[in-house]
Amino acid sequence: MLKQSRQTVSPDLVHSAEHGARWVAREPYYLASGDEVEVFAKCHARGLPVMLKGPTGCGKTRFIEHMAWKLGRPLVTIACHDDLSASDLTGRFLIKGDETVWVDGPLTTAARLGAICYLDEVVEARQDTVVVIHPLTDDRRLLPIEKTGDVVEAAPGFQLVISYNPGYQHAIKDLKPSTRQRFVTLEFDFPAAGAEAEIVAHESGVKRGTAQALVELAHKVRRLKDQGLAEGPGTRLLVSAAKLIADGVSAQDACQAAFVGPLTDDPDLVSAIADLVAALL
Ligand code: ADP
Repeated sequence: MLKQSRQTVSPDLVHSAEHGARWVAREPYYLASGDEVEVFAKCHARGLPVMLKGPTGCGKTRFIEHMAWKLGRPLVTIACHDDLSASDLTGRFLIKGDETVWVDGPLTTAARLGAICYLDEVVEARQDTVVVIHPLTDDRRLLPIEKTGDVVEAAPGFQLVISYNPGYQHAIKDLKPSTRQRFVTLEFDFPAAGAEAEIVAHESGVKRGTAQALVELAHKVRRLKDQGLAEGPGTRLLVSAAKLIADGVSAQDACQAAFVGPLTDDPDLVSAIADLVAALL
């Protein structure tokens, strides 16, 4: 079954009539760290597929929402997981009353509409599912649909984008070279300290000093990676903690609930991070 990646839809995103496609109505705030906006726009103009590579919570999804708005294209987002089948992407026959009708899947919808199709965490999908996207990455930009015998030619504006987090992949669960070499790669990382504080303040409404303290906390915790933390805290966690603080929750409680809890269950790490929170906030 297909799981839509964003359960809650912000008011900036307007659902279109077509299955799973959204128009980004208002400019999503995105603070660039380099020339990624310009490079992505050039890839889009050339129809080049793009891979956004980087740790979780570092701005990849926000970037693609910003680019869909900037380029004026609808956005189709697909959260990949190991149950995702080729039919979940391309579509399937459904029985409606006495009739059997074909219903496009989100990839087909995106190809027909000329949308940006964002496959989030593509490495989670099985290889036999991932190969379905391969013909769309060729120059001809075609999507053969096995069940109907149709071949859908991607409309102008269609672009495939995948996200990939190299941090926590296992050897058995990694992107095959035959897939990854089809994508122009844009590298993402946590924003520089000043930029990250600006993002946290903007997103939550906390004062600049609090945002800076949260970023300092994140920097210190990211260094704990060697001590058993599977992944460093993303900007998302800082934004969540900052939102609670902005709404009157004490810094200690906000960090415990929104920062420490989602990061780890390891009692030693929890107490080490709690000490850092007490010292910094
Ligand atoms: P990813 O897709 O990489 O897991 P997201 O794009 O969902 O991460 O980022 C998480 C949150 O962090 C966003 O909702 C946003 O609040 C904030 N964020 C991270 N980087 C940026 C950025 N460069 N500009 C604006 N907001 C950002």
